[in-house]
Amino acid sequence: APLTNMQTRDVEALLHPYTNAAQHRQVGAHIIAEGKGIHVYDERGREFIEGMSGLWCAGLGFGDEELADAAAAQLRKLPYYHLFAGRSHEPAIELAEMIKDLAPGMARVIFQSSGSEANDSQVKLAWFYNNARGRPEKKKIISRRKGYHGVTVAAASMTGLPYNHLDWDLPIDRFLHAGTPHHWREAEAGESEADFSARLAHELEEMIEREGPETVAAFIAEPIMGAGGVIVPPEGYFEAIRPVLDKHDVLMIADEVITGFARTGEWFGSDRFNVRPTSMSMAKQLTGGYAPLSAVAINQDMAEVIEAHTGEIGTLGHGFTYGGHPVGCATGVAALRIYKERRILDHVRSVEGVFQAKLRSYLDHPLVGEARGVGLIGALELAPDASGQTAFEPGGKVGAKLSAELAERGVILRNVGDSLAFCPPMIITEAEIEALFAPLEDALNVTESWAKA
Ligand code: PLP
Repeated sequence: APLTNMQTRDVEALLHPYTNAAQHRQVGAHIIAEGKGIHVYDERGREFIEGMSGLWCAGLGFGDEELADAAAAQLRKLPYYHLFAGRSHEPAIELAEMIKDLAPGMARVIFQSSGSEANDSQVKLAWFYNNARGRPEKKKIISRRKGYHGVTVAAASMTGLPYNHLDWDLPIDRFLHAGTPHHWREAEAGESEADFSARLAHELEEMIEREGPETVAAFIAEPIMGAGGVIVPPEGYFEAIRPVLDKHDVLMIADEVITGFARTGEWFGSDRFNVRPTSMSMAKQLTGGYAPLSAVAINQDMAEVIEAHTGEIGTLGHGFTYGGHPVGCATGVAALRIYKERRILDHVRSVEGVFQAKLRSYLDHPLVGEARGVGLIGALELAPDASGQTAFEPGGKVGAKLSAELAERGVILRNVGDSLAFCPPMIITEAEIEALFAPLEDALNVTESWAKA
């Protein structure tokens, strides 16, 4: 049958990231053919609720005609142009303006195609900035254990997850990792969220002083850690971190690749957690996932220093053939217009209560250790108990079983280790939130019996 052939071809011709070929051969590749609204359909016509917006990106759902039309119209008008040698194009200019208007304190926007490229660009801009300021020693980058920033060499070095480092000879020099702001797992007995935040900020300062502040360029953080397990920072975390960075003249990069564009109930995660970064990385929901595009926004100080230095040399020696691709930018312009016209931010705020309450209602289940999230992002962490001190061994198996049980029941949710992540399209209605959670109790029960056996 064509289906079997297709699965065979898929497994044998593609090197699949995230899974190994043996796993694909065993379970068969799941081939997704179409999407509409919060649903996707596989090649056999089976319907699934896409509870993860793909890889945290299809925030406007699937099959949106307005987004598709914007991309198609741009393909017909000017399918390709670049931003090189003094040339530019309308969609890039318009989108940069729109981003600046949304992102407080940001003065300039530079485009790439992916989140990894955005974060790589952040590292290079931080280095360039410090060279331009006559501080060539100031180059180290601090990120956090369990942070995820992508897979290019610099981005993977900032990522703080073992499987992105082991077997890859990463991280490279100059990249350091500070503590994870996960109160439930990492706090000491009796330590309040505010005290835990103060301790993490103190430990960060000790790290900067140990390394020498004159060698530390930047600190990068996702406002909410995504691939590390949807970890929401404890109370006062960014408020405690930011003064440490300011004191030691360290840039603060907000990786808003997941948290940007209404996901957290504010335009950016930085707004939600009261922090004003010196620069921001954006991707994914920037185009609703309909075309590859990412952006780095920098503040006035960085822009002035970088532009003055570029003046001497004559060019900023950094840019990609597809950076600011017109189809990506036109799709981004349409997405940002849709977020505003369809009042997506108001919608996220209006369903946040229902969604977060629903998530927390599973805390009673014996398999669930913690429920966490804000806006329309969250996770259930599976654990033997709710103490935060225990975990299933080896990690990830119980999570994978739960995710497979859910897929059998028509809901796609991703397990990141033993945390079940939720990041549904932001257009989801209250009735659809009910449907998203409907098979969870049953899937949890089956997984619990399986885990005990
Ligand atoms: N930063 C964050 C917070 C991400 O979640 C991701 C991807 O999941 C990236 C960066 C990397 O983006 P990309 O996969 O587009 O390179």
